[in-house]
Amino acid sequence: MYDVKSKKAEEFINHQEIMETLKWAHENKNNYDLIKDIIDKAREMKGVSHREGALLLECEIEELNQEMYSLAREIKQKLYGNRIVMFAPLYLSNYCVNGCVYCPYHYQNKSICRKKLTQEEIKKEVIALQDMGHKRLALEAGEDPVNNPIEYILESIETIYSIKHKNGAIRRVNVNIAATTVEEYRMLKEAGIGTYILFQETYHKENYEKLHPKGPKHNYAWHTEAMDRAMEGGIDDVGLGVLFGLNHYRYELTGLLMHAEHLEAVYGVGPHTISVPRIRPADDIDVNAFSNAVSDEIFEKIVAVLRIAVPYTGMIVSTRESPKTRERVLELGVTQISGGSKTSVGGYADEEVTEEEHTEQFDVEDRRTLDQVVSWLLQLGYIPSFCTACYREGRTGDRFMSLVKAGQIANICQPNALLTLMEYLADYASPETIMHGEKLIQEELKNIPHDKVRRLTIDYLEKIKQGQRDFRF
Ligand code: SF4
Repeated sequence: MYDVKSKKAEEFINHQEIMETLKWAHENKNNYDLIKDIIDKAREMKGVSHREGALLLECEIEELNQEMYSLAREIKQKLYGNRIVMFAPLYLSNYCVNGCVYCPYHYQNKSICRKKLTQEEIKKEVIALQDMGHKRLALEAGEDPVNNPIEYILESIETIYSIKHKNGAIRRVNVNIAATTVEEYRMLKEAGIGTYILFQETYHKENYEKLHPKGPKHNYAWHTEAMDRAMEGGIDDVGLGVLFGLNHYRYELTGLLMHAEHLEAVYGVGPHTISVPRIRPADDIDVNAFSNAVSDEIFEKIVAVLRIAVPYTGMIVSTRESPKTRERVLELGVTQISGGSKTSVGGYADEEVTEEEHTEQFDVEDRRTLDQVVSWLLQLGYIPSFCTACYREGRTGDRFMSLVKAGQIANICQPNALLTLMEYLADYASPETIMHGEKLIQEELKNIPHDKVRRLTIDYLEKIKQGQRDFRF
């Protein structure tokens, strides 16, 4: 039985409800009036239900599809402006006891080099990341209670936050580790993590079990209920995601929206972010073995529908995607991207890696440096933001959501984005990026509505040029 408030995986992500939703969406895919009503209702920026989202995704009427894309752009612009938050992944260890068939870290893969960073090696990685200009990281580690116990993750987080190299600092560490207990989530919260990220991979239970044949991750309920335990452990910023390509995308989008509705119904706060990775080639992994690959066109539609369905949830796209695809989805709803990423263990500090030593989790499609990505964003008219202020000011969970819903983004996030961009320009940017960045900052200052905030921002920008750091609203 479907029950949005139940804490049982198979009740809040109910297979029967998903199948009925998809059937209903299929039957109505040419129902002009119904789809038009949903689009018109979505203009209020209060989101749409999983049924409505599924129908938007299925819609076959070209005129309405175009209307949907314009609405997604409009929502993105109104709620997030031109800001794009920057981050980088940091791989700590690729030891893993699970058997995920799409991931080269699965325990049976003998051809990949296994590596776990020492605290000294983590320092080197963090210094390399700080020297690029990063302020926000997403920690990644395989599931292995012996090699990567929670104590190792906690110690690594402490090491990362402690490193202050030149003007650099990692100010927010998001964590992407395996589903765990309430007690361990509490420990992560106390260690000062930002978002706890866990991809569902697929919401389809039967396929999930086939794709995860061995290890603790095989347990669908344990994995699917992880965000409930994280919330109980005090983590109120959680990040959802599926790996598009594992199962039919319509099923996955419906599952994602049901998961978001469940968190909102039970905890009063939806997901902080949703990631939309697509399966990529990697050591031991042939993407052709997965028949549910999502085309670029469908991928863009998924992003647009998500933007409309969960307007207050940030959306993340990684360097798995090409610059061209990233450009397109930035416009339609993505709010956060990685730049200059390395998906191997020790990849930032270790320039020279032999064929035998390779440890990448997946091939990267966008191989540009962070400076190239920042310069590209500036030239497209976006503000690359290194801001971490909300998390540091305690504006997480529903406090962050109320800020967005109250329309205060322009008076808080906009100036913070400009200030952190100026720090980046002062400390790390190439002359070309500095030129584009300073021009954009001058133009974007005009978009801070509150006079006093604008004046203070100008003052802080000047102080950053003179060497001071870390101003925030
Ligand atoms: S996806 Fe995660 S859990 Fe699965 S094999 Fe890869 S690292 Fe391990």
